Amino acid sequence: MRLINAAEGLDAKGRKTRLSLSIENGRIARITDAAGAAEDIIVMPALVNAHDHARPLRSSSVGAFGKPLETWLHRLAMMAPVDPYLATLAPLARAALGGQGAVMIHHVRAMGLTDYAKETEVMARAARDVGVRVALGIGMRDCNPLVYGAHDELLASLEAAVRAEIEARFLSQPMMPIKEQIERVDAVAAALGSPMFDVQYAPNGPQWCSEALWEAIAEASARTGRRITTHLYETKYQRAWADRSYPQGMLKRWKEIGLLSPRLTLAHCVWATPDELDMIAEAGCTIVTNTSSNLALRSGIAPLAEMLKRCCKVAMGIDGQAFDEDDDALREIRLLWSLHAGWGFDRAFEPSEILLVALENGRGAVGAGNGGRLAEGAAADLLILDRAALDEDGLMPVDPIELLFARGNRSHLRELIVAGRSVVQNGKLVGVDLDAAQRELRAAYRAAMPSRAGFVQAWTGFEKAVCAHYLTRLGCC
Ligand SMILES: [Zn+2]
Repeated sequence: MRLINAAEGLDAKGRKTRLSLSIENGRIARITDAAGAAEDIIVMPALVNAHDHARPLRSSSVGAFGKPLETWLHRLAMMAPVDPYLATLAPLARAALGGQGAVMIHHVRAMGLTDYAKETEVMARAARDVGVRVALGIGMRDCNPLVYGAHDELLASLEAAVRAEIEARFLSQPMMPIKEQIERVDAVAAALGSPMFDVQYAPNGPQWCSEALWEAIAEASARTGRRITTHLYETKYQRAWADRSYPQGMLKRWKEIGLLSPRLTLAHCVWATPDELDMIAEAGCTIVTNTSSNLALRSGIAPLAEMLKRCCKVAMGIDGQAFDEDDDALREIRLLWSLHAGWGFDRAFEPSEILLVALENGRGAVGAGNGGRLAEGAAADLLILDRAALDEDGLMPVDPIELLFARGNRSHLRELIVAGRSVVQNGKLVGVDLDAAQRELRAAYRAAMPSRAGFVQAWTGFEKAVCAHYLTRLGCC
C-alpha cells in the first residue's frame, strides 16, 4: 500500500486541494482529505498517447523535416532495421519521461531481423521493462506501396538507376495474403495480450488497404471483439483519393460493412467533413487528434472544436512528432488548447475538456480500461508534478490548471506511476537506461548508413516524381 498526500489534485472533473490518496493492487483504493502535512505536489491521472508508432529516433535526423506525409514516410527508409528491443525501449522510455502512462504502438514497419512472433515478443518485453501500458496495433496493408493509386507512370518517369533502387527498396516484397494478416494479429494477441499489453488490428489507412481487407478486418473484429486502429484523412491527398475511390462516400461504405463501431480508433481526421464527424460520433468510434504531428508533416489543423461540438469521442496522440520531437505529452495538451480553443472572447472549450481528451478518452482506445480520473477504484496511473517548480514565482494563489496550460512540460514531472508501479522517479526512469539505449541505437544507425547510399542518390529524383504524382495525377487504387 502506498499513500500520497498532495497539496493539489487535478482531473477533468476539476481541482481538489489537500488530498490523501492510497494505492493498493494497482488501483486507487481511497481518496480522503489529507490529515497531516501535504507535499507541495500536484497529482493527476497519467496522460494517454492513443496514437504513435514508437519510432526509435527522431525523423528529422534523417532529413525528414518539413516533408509532407507522402514523401516523409518514404524518407524513413533511411533508417535501417535495428534491434527491436532497443527500438521499442527508447521511444517508450521517452514517452514515460513525457508523462505518458499508456501508449499506442501502430507497428507499421517491422524490423524483420527475426520472425514476427519473436519481434513482437521482445517489443512486449521492452514495454514491461519500461513499465507503461502499451497497445500494439499490428500494421496491415495490401495496396499502393508507392503512391495513392497506380504507380506505373511514376516509375516510368524515373531514371533507370533511381527506378532500380526504388523498386528494390519498396516493391520487392509481396503483400501478405489477407487471411494470413488476420491470423498473424490473432496469434500475437493469443501469445502476448494482457491488461498491460493490448493487441489490435491496425490497417495502415484507407489508401493502403483493399476493400477485401477492410471487410475481413470488420468481420474479424466483430467476431473476436478485438479493437481496430487506423489512420483516416490525415492529409488532403488522402481526402482526394477517398473521394475519387468512393464516390458514394467511403464512411458510408465502412458503415455498411460494419467497420464503424465503438471498437474503431481513427487517427487524425484532419480532413473529415462535418457529416462524417456525425457518423463517427453516432457509431461511437474514437478519434485521435495529433496536433504536433499534423503541423510537422504539413497535414493541416484538425477541426477539434467541431469534433467536440458534434460529440465525437476525441483522444490525444503524439504520433512520434511532439513539437520539440521529445515525446512531451504535457506540452502537447497546451498546444491542443492554444490552437483549437477559439480566438478572443470566443471559447470553443475549456482546458478541462482537453484534460478529458488527454487523460480519459484514449484509455479505451489503448485497452487500458477504467481510469483517467482521481476516483476510488480507478487504475493507479498517475502523474506527480512539482507544484513549486510549476509556480516558481509564487506571487498569489493560482489555479494549477492555469499553470499547467500556461507552462507545464516534462521538466515538471516528478513521478509517473502506472498500475501502482513507479516508472519515473525524481524525473529519472526507474527500470531502464535510456541514454545507453539511445547510444546503442545511434551507433547502429550510423553503422548502417552506407547501406543507404543508393537511396540517398535516388532520393532527389524520386521525391520529385512523388510530388508530381500528387500535384498532377492522383489516381485510384
Ligand atoms: Zn500515425
